[in-house]
This record gives sequence, structure tokens and C-alpha cells, in this order.
Amino acid sequence: MLSYEEYMASKEEDFEGTCLRCGACCGAFDDPCAELEKNGQGHYFCRSYKERFGQKTTVSGKTFNCVSIREHIRAGTLREGCGYADMLKNIL
Ligand code: SF4
Repeated sequence: MLSYEEYMASKEEDFEGTCLRCGACCGAFDDPCAELEKNGQGHYFCRSYKERFGQKTTVSGKTFNCVSIREHIRAGTLREGCGYADMLKNIL
């Protein structure tokens, strides 16, 4: 039997695994965050993931506030095709 901490860690892993690494929420299709990178498999990742929240700069020099994916979900700002948007469509 899993401990509470192990159970919560596995749920967090499931939640993180919902991301398809398309980069859309980080501006991959518009003016991307300057910390956004693409790996050899075509998946996007953040160069400073652990320190990602707060004021950041896009490639063109605009500033924006990086927020958690939960904030995007609450605000309804995810694009169609995002793993979280699709997940919500299936449960709401
Ligand atoms: S838009 Fe959704 S699937 Fe794409 S990188 Fe952001 S959270 Fe992941």
C-alpha cells in the first residue's frame, strides 16, 4: 500500500504527464518565452523550469508573467489540442 506522500507524488506525476510538450502555453506558435527550448524529438521544455514563475521575457523582448498550468486551466487560456484542455473536455 502506498503512503499518502507516495500517492500524492504519483498523482502529481500523472498530472505532469498530461502535458504533450507542444510549447503552446509558452508561446511556441507566436512569440515564445526566451527560456523555451525544443529537443531533438520536437518536444518543448523550459530551460529554467524550477524558477519559471514570475516576470519573464519573450524572444522579441516583451515581458509577461509566467504562471502555473493550474492558473491557465482556471483562466481557460489553454489552446485546443493541449493535453490539459483535452483532459478537461473529457471530464466536464
Ligand atoms: S499547451 Fe498544454 S500540452 Fe502544450 S506545452 Fe502547454 S501545457 Fe503542455
